[in-house]
Amino acid sequence: MHDDREPQYQFETRAIHAGQEPDPETGAVIVPIYQTSTYRQEAVGVHKGYEYSRTGNPTRAALETALASLEGGAWGLAYASGLAATANVMYLLRPGDHVLLSDDAYGGTYRLVDKVLQPWGLTYTQVDLTDPARVREALKPETKLVWVETPTNPYLKIAPIAELAEVAHGGGARLVVDNTFASPYLQQPLAHGADIVLHSTTKYIGGHSDVVGGALVGNDPAVREILAFHQNAVGAVPGPQDCFLLLRGLKTLAVRMERHSANGRAVAEFLRGQDAVERVYYPGLPDDPGHAVAARQMRDFAGMVSFTARGGLEAAKRVVASTKLFFLAESLGGVESLIEHPGLMTHASLAGSGFEIDPGLIRLSVGIEHVDDLIADLRQALTAGVLEAAAIRD
Ligand SMILES: *Cc1c(COP(=O)(O)O)cnc(C)c1O
Repeated sequence: MHDDREPQYQFETRAIHAGQEPDPETGAVIVPIYQTSTYRQEAVGVHKGYEYSRTGNPTRAALETALASLEGGAWGLAYASGLAATANVMYLLRPGDHVLLSDDAYGGTYRLVDKVLQPWGLTYTQVDLTDPARVREALKPETKLVWVETPTNPYLKIAPIAELAEVAHGGGARLVVDNTFASPYLQQPLAHGADIVLHSTTKYIGGHSDVVGGALVGNDPAVREILAFHQNAVGAVPGPQDCFLLLRGLKTLAVRMERHSANGRAVAEFLRGQDAVERVYYPGLPDDPGHAVAARQMRDFAGMVSFTARGGLEAAKRVVASTKLFFLAESLGGVESLIEHPGLMTHASLAGSGFEIDPGLIRLSVGIEHVDDLIADLRQALTAGVLEAAAIRD
């Protein structure tokens, strides 16, 4: 932990206390929702640190302090969504600059780079970021960012953060790690050399599927200054109510991630034993290709599990429509379990890109319900889905 504000406290304690002092006016234990757009000034420029809520808001400031503390960073910035945070990082670049992106980058990140930033003059290459040697080869003199997700979405591949930081820095590029799938409880990329950590706080940090948000955390004060300028200049900021919900989610992040990880592992082990399942992707399985690196840089392996159903697209479509507890829905990281078909849902924007998803792939966000109920639900859905698909083929 590098938090010099509260170095004496462990993660679980900082999740509840960092940036979250009782309100000095009233003693309220919970940071209030400062639902105000503006702040009274005693004289021109004489105020208590707040002038206008796009620029700064006390509920948002509490969230930003807490997030910085939990990632072990010197600063945090909160945004209206994960993609707003992504766009704010991209404003560090200029036309002609080049970005290295994972070959299974989050669909929205890919879409932003390919459809919005490329026409504006940015170039990009997609590579397999699990292999630092391939990344070194793909670096160009104009490469300014290496954009890593680990675990990736939806194949849950693991990229070695420390090695990639070394390669990126050797080429004069910054390393950005999208830490959404791990959460700061399970993985802290800054400690491994990353320059900026990104979160879709919509996912594990919020944890209750009731808010959309994003965040950036880092150490370099010069980078903070530029990003905070962009945050205000572009204006994609979260409202105080959303910041309140995220602070509330943060308080239980550690205990939720432990249960997500335990349930994720049990579900992955169950799936691997099923005839109806062709392949399971979960970095917590000891024979998963990413396991050794994941075990080095993660505390545990979270609740995201992907698998291919025997019978391809038809079987996969039937399985995702047959679960009762696992809701068929996009997104992830909430207390309730979700199931989805990446090729047709979250990653549909990859169609035609050369990086299409296996049509038989199913992605689970394993929640914190009782694991026996979750496994029973998957068992009946696999039976129903794969049998129906086989009956149609015959
Ligand atoms: C959801 C997600 C994003 C985008 O975040 P939004 O809050 O939906 O804008 C970025 N990266 C990953 C890995 C995600 O899962």
